[in-house]
Amino acid sequence: MKHLIIIGLGILAFLPVHGQTDIEKTKNTVVKSDIEGHIYFLASDELRGRETGTREADIAAAYLANSFRRYNVKPVNNGSYYQDIKFQMNQPASKLEASLNGTTIEDFVPLNGQNIDYDGTAIFVGYGEESDYTGKNVKGKLVISRAGTPGNDDVRAAMNSAENKRKTAAAHGAIGIIELNNTTSQFWRFIARQANSSRLTPAIDDTSSDQIPYMMIKDTDALLANSFANTKRINAKITVEGAGKTYVNSKNVVGMVEGTDPKLKDEFIIYSAHYDHIGTGKPNEANDSIFNGARDNAIGTVTVLSAAENIGKYPTKRSALFILFTGEEKGLLGSRYYADNPLIPLDKMVYCFNSDNGGYNDTSIATIIGLHRTTAAKHIISAAKEFGLNVIDDPAGEQGLFDRSDNVSFAAKGIPAPTYSLGFTAFDAEINKYYHKTSDNPDTLDYDYLEKFFKSYVLACRRIANDPQTPFWTEGDKYYKKGVELYGKSPVKK
Ligand SMILES: [Zn+2]
Repeated sequence: MKHLIIIGLGILAFLPVHGQTDIEKTKNTVVKSDIEGHIYFLASDELRGRETGTREADIAAAYLANSFRRYNVKPVNNGSYYQDIKFQMNQPASKLEASLNGTTIEDFVPLNGQNIDYDGTAIFVGYGEESDYTGKNVKGKLVISRAGTPGNDDVRAAMNSAENKRKTAAAHGAIGIIELNNTTSQFWRFIARQANSSRLTPAIDDTSSDQIPYMMIKDTDALLANSFANTKRINAKITVEGAGKTYVNSKNVVGMVEGTDPKLKDEFIIYSAHYDHIGTGKPNEANDSIFNGARDNAIGTVTVLSAAENIGKYPTKRSALFILFTGEEKGLLGSRYYADNPLIPLDKMVYCFNSDNGGYNDTSIATIIGLHRTTAAKHIISAAKEFGLNVIDDPAGEQGLFDRSDNVSFAAKGIPAPTYSLGFTAFDAEINKYYHKTSDNPDTLDYDYLEKFFKSYVLACRRIANDPQTPFWTEGDKYYKKGVELYGKSPVKK
Protein backbone atom coordinates (compact mmCIF):
# COMPACT_ATOMS: atom_id res chain seq x y z
CA MET A 1 0.00 0.00 0.00
CA LYS A 2 2.70 2.43 1.06
CA HIS A 3 4.64 1.49 -2.04
CA LEU A 4 1.66 2.27 -4.25
CA ILE A 5 1.14 5.69 -2.69
CA ILE A 6 4.75 6.62 -3.30
CA ILE A 7 4.51 5.53 -6.93
CA GLY A 8 1.25 7.45 -7.24
CA LEU A 9 2.77 10.66 -5.89
CA GLY A 10 5.76 10.17 -8.16
CA ILE A 11 3.55 10.08 -11.21
CA LEU A 12 1.62 13.14 -10.04
CA ALA A 13 4.81 15.13 -9.76
CA PHE A 14 5.57 14.53 -13.42
CA LEU A 15 2.11 15.33 -14.71
CA PRO A 16 1.93 18.70 -16.42
CA VAL A 17 -0.55 21.17 -14.96
CA HIS A 18 -3.25 20.14 -17.36
CA GLY A 19 -6.31 21.87 -18.56
CA GLN A 20 -5.10 25.37 -17.79
CA THR A 21 -5.72 27.38 -20.91
CA ASP A 22 -4.17 30.77 -21.55
CA ILE A 23 -7.56 32.29 -20.75
CA GLU A 24 -7.66 30.60 -17.35
CA LYS A 25 -4.08 31.55 -16.61
CA THR A 26 -4.99 35.13 -17.42
CA LYS A 27 -8.04 35.11 -15.17
CA ASN A 28 -6.01 33.57 -12.34
CA THR A 29 -3.58 36.45 -12.03
CA VAL A 30 -5.33 39.59 -13.30
CA VAL A 31 -7.37 40.84 -10.37
CA LYS A 32 -9.12 44.19 -10.10
CA SER A 33 -7.99 44.99 -6.56
CA ASP A 34 -4.32 44.42 -7.52
CA ILE A 35 -4.69 46.76 -10.48
CA GLU A 36 -6.23 49.41 -8.23
CA GLY A 37 -3.48 49.02 -5.63
CA HIS A 38 -0.68 49.59 -8.14
CA ILE A 39 -2.38 52.53 -9.87
CA TYR A 40 -3.36 54.30 -6.65
CA PHE A 41 0.24 54.07 -5.45
CA LEU A 42 1.96 55.18 -8.68
CA ALA A 43 -0.52 58.02 -9.24
CA SER A 44 -0.59 59.13 -5.59
CA ASP A 45 0.12 62.74 -4.61
CA GLU A 46 3.12 61.45 -2.65
CA LEU A 47 4.86 60.56 -5.93
CA ARG A 48 4.31 64.14 -7.16
CA GLY A 49 3.83 63.30 -10.81
CA ARG A 50 6.96 61.10 -11.19
CA GLU A 51 9.02 63.65 -13.08
CA THR A 52 12.27 62.28 -14.51
CA GLY A 53 15.22 63.03 -12.27
CA THR A 54 13.20 63.55 -9.09
CA ARG A 55 13.39 61.51 -5.92
CA GLU A 56 9.75 60.55 -6.38
CA ALA A 57 10.48 59.04 -9.80
CA ASP A 58 13.19 56.95 -8.12
CA ILE A 59 10.68 55.78 -5.51
CA ALA A 60 8.39 54.70 -8.34
CA ALA A 61 11.33 52.84 -9.92
CA ALA A 62 12.07 51.05 -6.64
CA TYR A 63 8.43 50.02 -6.36
CA LEU A 64 8.50 48.61 -9.89
CA ALA A 65 11.79 46.77 -9.39
CA ASN A 66 10.44 45.20 -6.22
CA SER A 67 7.24 44.19 -7.98
CA PHE A 68 9.44 42.36 -10.51
CA ARG A 69 11.27 40.70 -7.61
CA ARG A 70 7.97 39.60 -6.11
CA TYR A 71 6.74 38.22 -9.44
CA ASN A 72 9.76 36.01 -10.07
CA VAL A 73 11.04 38.25 -12.87
CA LYS A 74 14.85 38.11 -13.03
CA PRO A 75 17.25 41.05 -13.34
CA VAL A 76 19.34 41.20 -16.53
CA ASN A 77 21.86 43.94 -15.72
CA ASN A 78 24.50 42.19 -13.56
CA GLY A 79 22.01 41.36 -10.86
CA SER A 80 20.28 44.75 -10.95
CA TYR A 81 16.79 45.64 -12.14
CA TYR A 82 18.04 49.12 -13.03
CA GLN A 83 19.63 50.52 -16.14
CA ASP A 84 21.12 53.79 -14.87
CA ILE A 85 21.08 56.73 -17.27
CA LYS A 86 22.84 60.05 -16.94
CA PHE A 87 20.99 63.02 -18.44
CA GLN A 88 21.96 66.66 -18.52
CA MET A 89 19.66 69.56 -17.74
CA ASN A 90 20.64 72.42 -20.01
CA GLN A 91 20.19 75.93 -18.64
CA PRO A 92 19.54 78.59 -21.29
CA ALA A 93 21.93 81.54 -21.62
CA SER A 94 21.14 84.66 -19.61
CA LYS A 95 22.95 86.97 -22.02
CA LEU A 96 23.14 86.61 -25.80
CA GLU A 97 24.77 89.04 -28.20
CA ALA A 98 25.98 88.70 -31.76
CA SER A 99 27.24 91.16 -34.32
CA LEU A 100 28.89 90.42 -37.66
CA ASN A 101 30.80 93.15 -39.50
CA GLY A 102 29.22 95.68 -37.16
CA THR A 103 25.61 94.61 -37.79
CA THR A 104 23.67 93.34 -34.80
CA ILE A 105 22.07 89.91 -35.33
CA GLU A 106 18.75 89.35 -33.56
CA ASP A 107 18.02 85.73 -34.51
CA PHE A 108 20.96 84.06 -32.81
CA VAL A 109 20.89 81.03 -30.49
CA PRO A 110 23.49 78.81 -28.80
CA LEU A 111 22.70 75.11 -29.16
CA ASN A 112 24.98 73.03 -26.96
CA GLY A 113 25.00 74.84 -23.65
CA GLN A 114 28.51 76.28 -23.95
CA ASN A 115 29.44 79.89 -23.19
CA ILE A 116 31.66 82.00 -25.41
CA ASP A 117 33.02 85.54 -25.33
CA TYR A 118 34.68 86.30 -28.64
CA ASP A 119 35.77 89.52 -30.35
CA GLY A 120 37.87 88.85 -33.41
CA THR A 121 38.04 87.36 -36.87
CA ALA A 122 35.62 84.76 -38.14
CA ILE A 123 36.29 82.65 -41.24
CA PHE A 124 33.54 81.62 -43.65
CA VAL A 125 33.85 77.95 -44.61
CA GLY A 126 31.00 77.33 -47.07
CA TYR A 127 29.15 74.20 -46.01
CA GLY A 128 31.83 73.40 -43.45
CA GLU A 129 32.88 70.13 -45.05
CA GLU A 130 36.47 68.89 -44.90
CA SER A 131 37.31 70.24 -48.41
CA ASP A 132 36.03 73.70 -47.44
CA TYR A 133 38.97 74.10 -45.05
CA THR A 134 41.64 73.76 -47.75
CA GLY A 135 43.92 76.79 -47.66
CA LYS A 136 42.17 78.32 -44.65
CA ASN A 137 43.72 78.81 -41.24
CA VAL A 138 40.98 78.74 -38.65
CA LYS A 139 43.14 77.92 -35.63
CA GLY A 140 41.92 79.86 -32.60
CA LYS A 141 39.21 81.52 -34.67
CA LEU A 142 35.47 81.31 -34.98
CA VAL A 143 34.11 79.66 -38.14
CA ILE A 144 30.82 80.44 -39.89
CA SER A 145 29.20 77.93 -42.23
CA ARG A 146 26.00 77.36 -44.14
CA ALA A 147 23.63 74.86 -42.54
CA GLY A 148 22.81 71.70 -44.49
CA THR A 149 24.77 70.14 -47.31
CA PRO A 150 25.50 71.38 -50.87
CA GLY A 151 22.22 71.37 -52.78
CA ASN A 152 20.23 70.54 -49.67
CA ASP A 153 19.39 73.30 -47.20
CA ASP A 154 16.39 71.60 -45.63
CA VAL A 155 15.89 71.11 -41.94
CA ARG A 156 16.69 67.44 -41.86
CA ALA A 157 19.96 67.88 -43.76
CA ALA A 158 20.87 70.67 -41.36
CA MET A 159 20.21 68.54 -38.28
CA ASN A 160 21.96 65.46 -39.65
CA SER A 161 25.12 67.26 -40.73
CA ALA A 162 25.51 69.53 -37.68
CA GLU A 163 27.55 67.22 -35.48
CA ASN A 164 30.04 66.35 -38.20
CA LYS A 165 30.50 70.02 -39.01
CA ARG A 166 31.23 70.84 -35.41
CA LYS A 167 33.77 68.01 -35.21
CA THR A 168 35.44 69.07 -38.46
CA ALA A 169 35.71 72.66 -37.21
CA ALA A 170 37.15 71.49 -33.88
CA ALA A 171 39.65 69.22 -35.64
CA HIS A 172 40.96 72.26 -37.53
CA GLY A 173 41.41 74.16 -34.28
CA ALA A 174 38.37 76.47 -34.47
CA ILE A 175 37.09 77.67 -31.09
CA GLY A 176 33.42 77.73 -32.08
CA ILE A 177 31.04 77.36 -35.03
CA ILE A 178 28.01 79.33 -36.14
CA GLU A 179 25.68 77.88 -38.76
CA LEU A 180 23.66 80.18 -41.00
CA ASN A 181 20.29 78.52 -41.39
CA ASN A 182 18.26 79.40 -44.47
CA THR A 183 14.98 78.55 -42.82
CA THR A 184 11.35 79.45 -42.32
CA SER A 185 10.10 81.37 -39.31
CA GLN A 186 8.17 78.33 -38.12
CA PHE A 187 11.24 76.12 -37.85
CA TRP A 188 13.21 78.98 -36.35
CA ARG A 189 10.62 79.41 -33.59
CA PHE A 190 11.00 75.72 -32.78
CA ILE A 191 14.83 76.00 -32.60
CA ALA A 192 14.67 79.17 -30.50
CA ARG A 193 12.20 77.61 -28.08
CA GLN A 194 14.49 74.60 -27.65
CA ALA A 195 17.51 76.80 -27.11
CA ASN A 196 15.82 79.15 -24.66
CA SER A 197 14.22 76.64 -22.31
CA SER A 198 15.79 74.41 -19.71
CA ARG A 199 15.56 70.92 -21.09
CA LEU A 200 16.80 67.41 -20.49
CA THR A 201 19.01 65.69 -23.06
CA PRO A 202 21.30 62.66 -22.98
CA ALA A 203 24.54 63.63 -21.23
CA ILE A 204 27.34 64.67 -23.57
CA ASP A 205 30.96 64.02 -22.70
CA ASP A 206 32.39 67.51 -22.81
CA THR A 207 35.86 66.52 -21.81
CA SER A 208 36.20 65.52 -25.46
CA SER A 209 38.00 68.14 -27.55
CA ASP A 210 35.33 68.34 -30.25
CA GLN A 211 32.88 69.99 -27.86
CA ILE A 212 33.26 73.57 -29.09
CA PRO A 213 30.41 76.10 -28.82
CA TYR A 214 27.84 75.49 -31.54
CA MET A 215 25.47 78.31 -32.47
CA MET A 216 22.94 79.18 -35.13
CA ILE A 217 21.77 82.30 -36.93
CA LYS A 218 18.57 82.55 -38.95
CA ASP A 219 19.52 83.50 -42.50
CA THR A 220 16.39 83.50 -44.64
CA ASP A 221 17.23 83.41 -48.38
CA ALA A 222 20.92 82.96 -47.44
CA LEU A 223 21.53 86.72 -47.63
CA LEU A 224 24.33 86.63 -45.05
CA ALA A 225 25.91 83.45 -46.40
CA ASN A 226 25.97 84.82 -49.94
CA SER A 227 27.47 88.09 -48.79
CA PHE A 228 30.25 86.23 -46.94
CA ALA A 229 31.01 83.84 -49.80
CA ASN A 230 33.89 85.86 -51.19
CA THR A 231 35.18 87.61 -48.07
CA LYS A 232 38.45 86.59 -46.46
CA ARG A 233 37.54 87.62 -42.94
CA ILE A 234 34.52 88.71 -40.96
CA ASN A 235 34.61 90.81 -37.80
CA ALA A 236 32.63 88.89 -35.18
CA LYS A 237 31.59 89.91 -31.70
CA ILE A 238 29.82 87.03 -29.95
CA THR A 239 28.71 86.67 -26.33
CA VAL A 240 26.93 83.70 -24.78
CA GLU A 241 26.80 83.99 -21.02
CA GLY A 242 25.12 82.01 -18.24
CA ALA A 243 24.49 78.85 -20.24
CA GLY A 244 25.25 75.73 -18.29
CA LYS A 245 24.09 72.32 -17.25
CA THR A 246 23.56 70.11 -14.29
CA TYR A 247 23.52 66.33 -14.36
CA VAL A 248 20.49 64.24 -13.53
CA ASN A 249 20.42 60.50 -12.88
CA SER A 250 17.45 58.34 -13.70
CA LYS A 251 16.73 54.73 -14.55
CA ASN A 252 14.90 52.28 -16.73
CA VAL A 253 13.61 49.25 -14.83
CA VAL A 254 14.27 45.97 -16.65
CA GLY A 255 13.67 42.26 -15.97
CA MET A 256 13.08 38.99 -17.80
CA VAL A 257 11.40 35.59 -17.65
CA GLU A 258 12.99 32.80 -19.67
CA GLY A 259 10.78 31.00 -22.18
CA THR A 260 9.84 27.32 -21.86
CA ASP A 261 10.34 26.20 -25.46
CA PRO A 262 13.92 25.04 -26.18
CA LYS A 263 13.91 26.87 -29.54
CA LEU A 264 11.48 29.74 -29.12
CA LYS A 265 13.08 30.90 -25.86
CA ASP A 266 15.84 32.50 -27.93
CA GLU A 267 13.20 34.93 -29.16
CA PHE A 268 12.07 37.66 -26.79
CA ILE A 269 8.90 39.68 -26.62
CA ILE A 270 9.38 43.11 -25.04
CA TYR A 271 6.55 44.36 -22.81
CA SER A 272 7.15 48.04 -22.18
CA ALA A 273 5.67 51.27 -20.85
CA HIS A 274 6.98 54.58 -19.51
CA TYR A 275 6.51 55.18 -15.79
CA ASP A 276 7.53 58.83 -15.72
CA HIS A 277 5.07 61.71 -15.99
CA ILE A 278 5.32 65.51 -15.98
CA GLY A 279 5.64 66.30 -12.27
CA THR A 280 4.09 69.39 -10.73
CA GLY A 281 3.04 72.77 -12.10
CA LYS A 282 0.80 75.77 -11.51
CA PRO A 283 -2.12 75.01 -9.13
CA ASN A 284 -5.59 74.90 -10.73
CA GLU A 285 -8.80 76.44 -9.24
CA ALA A 286 -9.00 73.53 -6.80
CA ASN A 287 -5.42 74.28 -5.72
CA ASP A 288 -4.17 71.01 -7.19
CA SER A 289 -0.65 71.33 -8.58
CA ILE A 290 0.21 67.64 -8.99
CA PHE A 291 -0.03 65.98 -12.39
CA ASN A 292 -0.71 62.47 -11.10
CA GLY A 293 -0.60 60.77 -14.48
CA ALA A 294 -3.01 57.95 -13.66
CA ARG A 295 -3.92 57.38 -17.32
CA ASP A 296 -0.57 58.64 -18.60
CA ASN A 297 1.01 56.32 -17.77
CA ALA A 298 0.38 54.58 -14.45
CA ILE A 299 -2.10 52.43 -16.37
CA GLY A 300 0.44 51.42 -19.03
CA THR A 301 3.03 50.72 -16.36
CA VAL A 302 0.60 48.48 -14.50
CA THR A 303 -0.42 46.57 -17.65
CA VAL A 304 3.25 45.61 -17.92
CA LEU A 305 3.35 44.65 -14.22
CA SER A 306 0.26 42.55 -14.88
CA ALA A 307 2.00 40.74 -17.73
CA ALA A 308 5.08 40.31 -15.52
CA GLU A 309 3.06 38.74 -12.72
CA ASN A 310 1.27 36.42 -15.14
CA ILE A 311 4.32 35.32 -17.14
CA GLY A 312 6.44 35.07 -13.97
CA LYS A 313 3.88 32.53 -12.73
CA TYR A 314 3.13 30.85 -16.07
CA PRO A 315 6.13 31.35 -18.40
CA THR A 316 5.37 31.45 -22.13
CA LYS A 317 7.22 29.63 -24.92
CA ARG A 318 9.12 32.75 -25.93
CA SER A 319 11.16 34.65 -23.37
CA ALA A 320 9.80 37.89 -21.94
CA LEU A 321 11.67 41.16 -21.42
CA PHE A 322 9.88 43.77 -19.31
CA ILE A 323 11.10 47.36 -19.62
CA LEU A 324 9.68 50.35 -17.76
CA PHE A 325 11.08 53.56 -19.19
CA THR A 326 12.06 56.85 -17.66
CA GLY A 327 12.15 60.14 -19.60
CA GLU A 328 9.31 59.57 -22.08
CA GLU A 329 7.72 62.93 -21.37
CA LYS A 330 11.10 64.62 -21.95
CA GLY A 331 11.26 63.25 -25.49
CA LEU A 332 11.31 59.41 -25.40
CA LEU A 333 14.71 59.60 -23.71
CA GLY A 334 14.59 56.35 -21.72
CA SER A 335 13.44 54.12 -24.58
CA ARG A 336 15.90 55.69 -26.99
CA TYR A 337 18.68 55.11 -24.50
CA TYR A 338 17.65 51.48 -24.11
CA ALA A 339 17.37 50.90 -27.88
CA ASP A 340 20.88 52.34 -28.31
CA ASN A 341 22.28 50.47 -25.29
CA PRO A 342 20.33 47.19 -25.15
CA LEU A 343 21.02 44.77 -22.30
CA ILE A 344 20.21 41.80 -24.56
CA PRO A 345 20.96 42.03 -28.33
CA LEU A 346 18.12 43.70 -30.24
CA ASP A 347 18.02 41.04 -32.97
CA LYS A 348 16.68 38.60 -30.37
CA MET A 349 13.72 40.92 -29.74
CA VAL A 350 11.04 39.80 -32.18
CA TYR A 351 8.24 42.07 -30.98
CA CYS A 352 7.62 45.01 -28.66
CA PHE A 353 4.16 45.32 -27.12
CA ASN A 354 4.29 48.83 -25.72
CA SER A 355 1.59 50.33 -23.53
CA ASP A 356 0.93 54.07 -23.31
CA ASN A 357 -2.15 56.16 -22.66
CA GLY A 358 -3.63 59.61 -23.05
CA GLY A 359 -7.11 58.67 -21.85
CA TYR A 360 -10.34 56.97 -22.95
CA ASN A 361 -13.78 57.89 -24.21
CA ASP A 362 -15.17 54.45 -25.08
CA THR A 363 -15.21 51.57 -22.59
CA SER A 364 -16.28 48.99 -25.18
CA ILE A 365 -12.92 49.01 -26.97
CA ALA A 366 -9.14 49.03 -26.70
CA THR A 367 -7.25 51.21 -29.17
CA ILE A 368 -4.01 49.87 -30.60
CA ILE A 369 -1.75 52.37 -32.31
CA GLY A 370 -0.32 50.43 -35.23
CA LEU A 371 -2.68 47.44 -34.82
CA HIS A 372 -2.66 46.44 -38.48
CA ARG A 373 1.01 47.21 -39.00
CA THR A 374 2.09 43.84 -37.53
CA THR A 375 0.99 40.26 -38.12
CA ALA A 376 0.09 39.87 -34.42
CA ALA A 377 -3.12 41.90 -34.89
CA LYS A 378 -5.21 38.69 -34.89
CA HIS A 379 -4.05 37.78 -31.37
CA ILE A 380 -4.76 41.23 -29.97
CA ILE A 381 -8.24 41.22 -31.52
CA SER A 382 -9.14 37.67 -30.41
CA ALA A 383 -7.83 38.21 -26.87
CA ALA A 384 -9.92 41.35 -26.37
CA LYS A 385 -12.99 39.55 -27.68
CA GLU A 386 -12.67 36.95 -24.89
CA PHE A 387 -13.27 39.73 -22.38
CA GLY A 388 -15.97 41.56 -24.31
CA LEU A 389 -13.87 44.31 -25.88
CA ASN A 390 -13.52 45.29 -29.51
CA VAL A 391 -10.26 46.59 -30.88
CA ILE A 392 -9.66 49.51 -33.21
CA ASP A 393 -6.53 50.94 -34.83
CA ASP A 394 -5.32 54.54 -34.40
CA PRO A 395 -8.37 56.81 -34.93
CA ALA A 396 -6.33 60.02 -34.69
CA GLY A 397 -3.73 59.70 -37.42
CA GLU A 398 -3.25 63.48 -37.42
CA GLN A 399 -1.76 63.22 -33.91
CA GLY A 400 1.08 61.04 -35.17
CA LEU A 401 0.77 58.88 -32.07
CA PHE A 402 2.74 55.94 -33.48
CA ASP A 403 5.82 58.14 -33.66
CA ARG A 404 5.17 59.89 -30.34
CA SER A 405 5.57 57.03 -27.88
CA ASP A 406 8.36 54.69 -26.85
CA ASN A 407 7.36 52.02 -29.39
CA VAL A 408 8.99 54.10 -32.13
CA SER A 409 12.42 53.76 -30.50
CA PHE A 410 12.15 50.03 -31.28
CA ALA A 411 10.22 50.33 -34.56
CA ALA A 412 13.00 52.52 -35.92
CA LYS A 413 15.42 49.64 -35.23
CA GLY A 414 13.17 47.25 -37.16
CA ILE A 415 11.32 45.58 -34.26
CA PRO A 416 7.53 45.29 -34.84
CA ALA A 417 6.16 47.57 -32.11
CA PRO A 418 2.56 48.78 -31.71
CA THR A 419 1.21 50.62 -28.66
CA TYR A 420 -1.68 49.26 -26.61
CA SER A 421 -3.97 52.04 -25.35
CA LEU A 422 -7.25 52.67 -23.56
CA GLY A 423 -10.27 52.89 -25.84
CA PHE A 424 -10.54 56.20 -27.64
CA THR A 425 -12.30 57.00 -30.89
CA ALA A 426 -10.93 60.53 -31.30
CA PHE A 427 -8.58 62.89 -29.47
CA ASP A 428 -11.62 64.86 -28.27
CA ALA A 429 -12.75 67.04 -25.35
CA GLU A 430 -13.26 64.00 -23.10
CA ILE A 431 -9.61 62.99 -23.62
CA ASN A 432 -8.37 66.55 -23.15
CA LYS A 433 -10.25 66.82 -19.86
CA TYR A 434 -7.52 64.63 -18.33
CA TYR A 435 -4.65 64.53 -20.82
CA HIS A 436 -1.61 66.17 -19.18
CA LYS A 437 -3.90 67.78 -16.57
CA THR A 438 -3.86 67.77 -12.77
CA SER A 439 -7.25 66.05 -13.01
CA ASP A 440 -5.66 62.77 -14.25
CA ASN A 441 -6.27 61.16 -10.85
CA PRO A 442 -6.72 57.47 -9.91
CA ASP A 443 -10.22 58.06 -8.49
CA THR A 444 -11.55 59.13 -11.90
CA LEU A 445 -11.03 55.71 -13.50
CA ASP A 446 -13.53 52.96 -14.35
CA TYR A 447 -11.87 49.89 -12.80
CA ASP A 448 -14.42 47.42 -14.18
CA TYR A 449 -13.38 48.52 -17.63
CA LEU A 450 -9.71 48.41 -16.64
CA GLU A 451 -10.03 44.82 -15.51
CA LYS A 452 -11.24 43.80 -19.00
CA PHE A 453 -8.61 46.00 -20.62
CA PHE A 454 -5.81 44.42 -18.54
CA LYS A 455 -7.02 40.86 -19.13
CA SER A 456 -7.16 41.57 -22.86
CA TYR A 457 -3.55 42.80 -22.79
CA VAL A 458 -2.23 39.85 -20.78
CA LEU A 459 -4.02 37.27 -22.92
CA ALA A 460 -2.75 38.94 -26.09
CA CYS A 461 0.78 38.79 -24.61
CA ARG A 462 0.39 35.06 -24.03
CA ARG A 463 -1.00 34.34 -27.48
CA ILE A 464 1.76 36.30 -29.22
CA ALA A 465 4.46 34.69 -27.07
CA ASN A 466 3.12 31.15 -27.57
CA ASP A 467 2.40 31.37 -31.31
CA PRO A 468 4.76 29.05 -33.25
CA GLN A 469 4.86 31.76 -35.93
CA THR A 470 7.07 34.75 -35.19
CA PRO A 471 5.28 38.11 -35.57
CA PHE A 472 6.53 40.61 -38.14
CA TRP A 473 5.69 43.87 -39.88
CA THR A 474 2.87 43.59 -42.41
CA GLU A 475 4.09 43.80 -45.98
CA GLY A 476 4.53 47.32 -47.28
CA ASP A 477 5.01 48.88 -43.85
CA LYS A 478 7.62 51.63 -43.76
CA TYR A 479 9.64 49.65 -41.18
CA TYR A 480 9.39 46.29 -42.99
CA LYS A 481 12.80 46.68 -44.63
CA LYS A 482 14.39 47.73 -41.35
CA GLY A 483 13.07 44.52 -39.84
CA VAL A 484 14.57 42.39 -42.59
CA GLU A 485 17.88 44.22 -42.03
CA LEU A 486 17.79 43.70 -38.27
CA TYR A 487 17.02 40.00 -38.33
CA GLY A 488 19.09 39.31 -41.43
CA LYS A 489 16.22 37.46 -43.09
CA SER A 490 12.70 37.81 -44.36
CA PRO A 491 9.93 36.50 -42.12
CA VAL A 492 9.15 32.83 -42.60
CA LYS A 493 5.76 32.34 -44.22
CA LYS A 494 3.68 29.46 -42.87
ZN1 LIG B 1 2.24 62.00 -21.57
